Amino acid sequence: MVYYQKVARTSWLVLCLVAGLLTFALLARPTLMDFPLSFGNAVYLLALIILFQFDNVRRGGIYYTFQEGIILFIFLNYGLLPSILLSQIGIIIFQVFSHKKEIRLKRFLYLYPINVLFDLFYLACPSLVYLALGGPIGTGFTYSEAIIPFLGYLTAVMLVSYVQCRFVNRVLYLKYDWIHLVRLQTLVYGTSMLCAFLGIWFYDENPLIAASVSALILLLFKRLLQQRGVTIEANENAKRFDDAKEHLLISRFERETIDSLLIDLPQLIDFSEGWISIQQQRKQIIYNIRTKTVIDVLPLFHSLSAEQLQTPIIHGLRFDWGKDIQIDLPVDRHSMLAIPSITNEDVDVSIVLFHQIADAYDEAKADELSRLLRIFCRSLHRSQETHQLYAESRTDALTELSNSRAFYEEGAYQFNSDRYPLSIVLFDIDHFKYVNDTYGHKVGDLVLRELGRRIRSLQQTRQDVFAARYGGEEFVLLLHQCPQKQAIDFAEIIRHAVLDRPFLVDGHRLSITISLGVDTVEHPGERTFEESLRQADHALYVGGKHNGRNCTAHYANL
Ligand code: GH3
Ligand code: MG
Ligand code: MG
Repeated sequence: MVYYQKVARTSWLVLCLVAGLLTFALLARPTLMDFPLSFGNAVYLLALIILFQFDNVRRGGIYYTFQEGIILFIFLNYGLLPSILLSQIGIIIFQVFSHKKEIRLKRFLYLYPINVLFDLFYLACPSLVYLALGGPIGTGFTYSEAIIPFLGYLTAVMLVSYVQCRFVNRVLYLKYDWIHLVRLQTLVYGTSMLCAFLGIWFYDENPLIAASVSALILLLFKRLLQQRGVTIEANENAKRFDDAKEHLLISRFERETIDSLLIDLPQLIDFSEGWISIQQQRKQIIYNIRTKTVIDVLPLFHSLSAEQLQTPIIHGLRFDWGKDIQIDLPVDRHSMLAIPSITNEDVDVSIVLFHQIADAYDEAKADELSRLLRIFCRSLHRSQETHQLYAESRTDALTELSNSRAFYEEGAYQFNSDRYPLSIVLFDIDHFKYVNDTYGHKVGDLVLRELGRRIRSLQQTRQDVFAARYGGEEFVLLLHQCPQKQAIDFAEIIRHAVLDRPFLVDGHRLSITISLGVDTVEHPGERTFEESLRQADHALYVGGKHNGRNCTAHYANL
């Protein structure tokens, strides 16, 4: 900010100096002051210039008014001084009308002198080249004499554009592509000059008709260029946004939804730095959109008040940023778009983008992005529900362990993996029918629930155990990277977890025991999942139940 204040001060100083020099030159050579334009004609020309200040064509962060057409017409007919004067009035009108009220004064203070100086530069240099090459002006104008000077004029425009680009890059740290700028300025000035030439054709009729013809053709050209830019940009944008929305709508899982947004965002909107905060229930994750890495705090937002965080914040140039915008970014970051709190159910999203290009964001872009984020919130919420349904479909409601369906999936997966040795522990409550018959089914259920709780608490301490309710009062464990000895040890831990502490349910104190059967597959291909399960079942009944119950049997030891 301090830097831009310095630039502004210097540019005002240079402007005063140039204005002083010009005044001095005019005073020294009063003939220069002969103003060949009548008041009425000047007003008419000014009115034409005003017409050019609206619906400007915007390319690469620069606005093109195309007022040059009239200015050049004035130059060709009345000389350099009137063209400079009227052009300056045009700049003031542009400055007033093309910016929103909040930034008008700032833009004036920071940019006006630079705009004025560049306009002088653009007018004076090419025009002087034109005159130096013998370019005709005024009543002596002939087309044949104008051709070579016109080419000289265009070459000077290219050089001035190049210098402007370097200056803006280096001093204002605005990212302009010089080839793009030279091409566009040459197009604008070239077309303007041609329109001015065309206007001169009608000069004999009436100078104002001639000026109007120039203006009309140029306005049409400007309109076409603007329409084309708007349509192409809008079409491309709309399609990309539609694709991104579709990606969000078809993504089913949380990760998929977030990844889809992170991948699509850089294609949808330009930015040099971008961060997004995604809050679900109480969990907040902030991503750097470019690197997809997670960071702790959403930049910028902590320096803004709740009031400021009500609506999107849009800035186009660094010096538009207020004092509240506190963020440590390089001096060439100009545009900023912050969209706070897009919410759906328990999902809340905020986004901050910065860009090196001036005026990169506008309300339309903010709206479009907000709409996309709203769809994202909805998709994320839905993916949470899908996830919940999926989890529920794999969980046994009574014991809160996995159900047999989840167990079969897990078994098929693990037997296909490289996690061998794999062990299966199958166990069954002893004389459970007796519990049901004596205390009732409800108590039986409570016993199953308590058993589920004990298994879950044992499971929590181990990464290698997958536990499920196999059916009825039968349970199963799948242990990976677990040889026979360790599997038997863990089976014993389970048996003791049941045996050692009586079950206190519904005012009853029940002693419960279980019988366990174990099988271990040391290497892939040794036995299928189903075969191993059958062997564990065999061990349970032959080695456990038929052996007096309340014991562990391994198939290999039968
Ligand atoms: P064993 O030691 O031979 O296993 O004897 P058991 O009585 O446990 O064997 P059996 O297979 O004859 O009986 C199992 C009983 O478990 C029968 C069934 O009513 C009961 N049971 C199965 N699922 C549930 C359940 O979800 N809740 C309740 N309360 N009882 C269940
Ligand atoms: Mg039983
Ligand atoms: Mg049974």
